[in-house]
Amino acid sequence: MDLFEYQGKQYFARFDIPVSPGDKADTVEEALAAAEAAGYPVVVKAQVQVGGRGKAGGIKLADNADEVRTHAGNILGLDIKGHVVKRLWVEHASDIEDEYYASFTLDRAAKKHLFMLSAQGGVEIEAVAESDPDAIVKLHIDPVVGLDAATARQAAVDARIPEKALDGTADILVKLYRCFSEGDCDLAEINPLILKPTGEVHALDAKVTLDANASFRHPEWAEYAETEELDERERLAKTHDLQYIGLDGTVGIIANGAGLAMSTLDVVNQVGGSAANFLDIGGGANADVMAAALEVINFDQNVSSIFINIFGGITRGEEVAKGIVEALGRVDLRAPIVIRLDGTNAEEGRQILADAGIPESKLRSEPTMLDAARAAVALAKN
Ligand code: GDP
Ligand code: MN
Repeated sequence: MDLFEYQGKQYFARFDIPVSPGDKADTVEEALAAAEAAGYPVVVKAQVQVGGRGKAGGIKLADNADEVRTHAGNILGLDIKGHVVKRLWVEHASDIEDEYYASFTLDRAAKKHLFMLSAQGGVEIEAVAESDPDAIVKLHIDPVVGLDAATARQAAVDARIPEKALDGTADILVKLYRCFSEGDCDLAEINPLILKPTGEVHALDAKVTLDANASFRHPEWAEYAETEELDERERLAKTHDLQYIGLDGTVGIIANGAGLAMSTLDVVNQVGGSAANFLDIGGGANADVMAAALEVINFDQNVSSIFINIFGGITRGEEVAKGIVEALGRVDLRAPIVIRLDGTNAEEGRQILADAGIPESKLRSEPTMLDAARAAVALAKN
């Protein structure tokens, strides 16, 4: 679950990571009140979950109430890369002497936490990685050992962060790691981490992704659900309790089991197509689940064909087939289905589909996953 900057900063504050005083604002009036409370000069910041807000006109400094009124009015409603600004964060403006980058993420391949630090902050880290990869210090952290102050300080030295910012940076890194690990984040990123002329170091931006698997031990996260930015397809899928992730391709995918669903995405990609979604219907491929899955896929305007990939284990082929036949009676699909049905009682299942008299233009069966992927991709391209 991705947090907005203001939520990320509030999360940081719980771990004593220094941030500027500020408040959120949904209207110009609220922005004025927030500015008053933070103290001028202030910075008015668009709250959207996309980078490069500054360049898009979503971040403006204001010296007085008139400027806040102008900027807040302009930024509210602004479209930043497809995200419409509904909320602002207004904080006391900082003097910036230097900008750094710091982040903790999970490196799944290494089974460790990945710590990245650079003295080149304030720009996209991907750009730094491309132009000057040596400017990024990367360190794996063993979650059992954690990150101590000495290691953090040495990393800052290695990243060529100036002497006067070393202690402040090391202190924040240790706190940011605590935020990341104890706070159950998938990502905790500060870009930029700034050095002020006074010598203080502090977080000017916050990018936090919470690990939804840990939500059971964070009842306080419930408040984030209200502002969570799901796409409309994902919102619909959630109402049906489906394990769905929206993607931007044209082949709608339904599979049973997360592993098979991911393999299905790979095979569709391998034969030159692109998946519109990930959708795992699990073991319960009955008519209700199938109808819900088809409804969500049908809602996606980019879908031009649907690939149902079922390997029956506990899930039985004839139940899947009955589910599909019944679901087709309930949902009026725009796109044709290609199904690969294998495993337990697959033959019975295929027979049920054949007997249902569904025209070939609406549903066809293919013997293997690869054949089905080819057929679905060909249909999507027509
Ligand atoms: P992003 O571009 O969407 O990641 O937004 P950031 O919060 O990182 O801000 C982008 C840039 O705006 C920063 O790198 C700063 O250069 C500038 N900026 C943001 N807040 C302040 C501030 O308080 N004072 C000054 N002088 N510049 C700021
Ligand atoms: Mn930033």
